[in-house]
Amino acid sequence: MPVPEGLRGPDEPPHPGLWGPLRTPPIGCGGLSLALELPALVRQLRAAWRARRGGPRGPGGSHTGTWGESDKEEVEEVRRDVEDRIAHVEAGGRRTSGHADASPVERRGSYPLIDVRILKSKTSGQQGEVESGRRQMRRQLSFQRYCHASRLLRGLVPRAPPSLHLLDDDYLGQAAYMLSKVDTWNFDIFLFDRLTNGNSLVTLMCHLFNVSGLVHHFQLDMVKLHRFLGMVQEDYHSQNPYHNAVHAADVTQAMYCYLQEPKLSEQLSPLDVFLGLMAAAAHDVDHPGVNQPFLIKTRHHLASLYQNTSVLESHHWRSTVGMLRESGLLSHLPADTSQNIEQQLGSLILATDISRQNEFLSTFREHLESRDLDLQLASHRHFILQIALKCADVCNPCRFWELSKQWSERVCEEFYRQGDLERKFDMEISPLCNQQADSVPAIQIGFISYIVAPLFEEWHRFTEPSPLSHTMMGHLHRNQARWSRLLRADTQTQPRATEPRPGGEGEDIR
Ligand SMILES: [Zn+2]
Repeated sequence: MPVPEGLRGPDEPPHPGLWGPLRTPPIGCGGLSLALELPALVRQLRAAWRARRGGPRGPGGSHTGTWGESDKEEVEEVRRDVEDRIAHVEAGGRRTSGHADASPVERRGSYPLIDVRILKSKTSGQQGEVESGRRQMRRQLSFQRYCHASRLLRGLVPRAPPSLHLLDDDYLGQAAYMLSKVDTWNFDIFLFDRLTNGNSLVTLMCHLFNVSGLVHHFQLDMVKLHRFLGMVQEDYHSQNPYHNAVHAADVTQAMYCYLQEPKLSEQLSPLDVFLGLMAAAAHDVDHPGVNQPFLIKTRHHLASLYQNTSVLESHHWRSTVGMLRESGLLSHLPADTSQNIEQQLGSLILATDISRQNEFLSTFREHLESRDLDLQLASHRHFILQIALKCADVCNPCRFWELSKQWSERVCEEFYRQGDLERKFDMEISPLCNQQADSVPAIQIGFISYIVAPLFEEWHRFTEPSPLSHTMMGHLHRNQARWSRLLRADTQTQPRATEPRPGGEGEDIR
């Protein structure tokens, strides 16, 4: 597996271009972000005012008592910064990807706007003060993540089920009950997300890590684990209709079900389970809500960084590695172990690139036909983990109708938003993204026919005899038939073209 340049050992300092000290601010809690940053901005304004009056932090006292041009610029810059942030929050925290105004420093995450202007503030030419501001901002962002992840700070009453020893394990009774059924296929992740107050990913992962014995086996620090998961959950964009933390939690729950398959569970090592769950939870982190072709044609910095190849997946992986290192979750492990984990996570996450579907599917078929899969071999187990993650990622049509339909509508809404953006900026509208031409039933039939069904047929063959695979195939066929009926009805009432289109090779539909 190719390892992009820049992968370092856990003790090495991160590359500033990739893992700079500041990460993207959480747009989902823009108000909180602003609230936390305003005091720092006010302090800067005060410092600038003191400078004007010749206070102790004045610029060397050289023009004490005078209102120099540099002071004016400084105050003006901070004022503009405050206004920008307020406008950003008022706009719902959303800007289009590939934002043309973003400076190279700002264009670091998948968000177009990164609040690092405070670091660029020229309040002082002294390196010490710049470093101090950087540390301060890092602490603020870290605190924002904690606030966002902490259910305690959201006003919920802590309750600790005996099996879940979390920091702020304020599970409501119903959520705890749902967790007792987490290995069942009709798990309603939307309900679970509501019951956990939007913390489905953190709650689910903490539970699965405990019940799978991973916390004990890897001697994980629960504070660090909770912090890492909070970062991952927060770096998903809650305003994305589909690629958000609930999708990650859904994929993680599906992955857990697959890891329980008798054919797998007896063979998997704790490391395999750790990797499978981690990769599922983080596989779409910081997804911008647009696909790779969009990033390429808008010349987004991520497309350049990853040379137009597996752009999103590479970013998800590298973001995960960054958060692993920042949280120190694996810092107690030997360097080669944590590096191996990082690389295997990359191999799993990169396998979710839908443009590599045929490559994986044909290898899987070859293995099944020659019956040479030996799960005693780590490399074969890794390959099956890749396939399992791919299945979990596209398993929506295998869920029961009510859940499946919600996911279908969400993913299409995300496509349509991209199409609207493309229309707005006079770009060619991407396949499946034209709300006037691409109906939800047509998109779903294409997706099921060209992506989901071929993959799950082989997965069914591999896991046989498996009650779960049998259930999933039943849902898949029923849902496909239902979309076909809806498509016929849609065609009769709508004049638009509704022929299903292949969502296969090269058409990055998820
Ligand atoms: Zn996904």
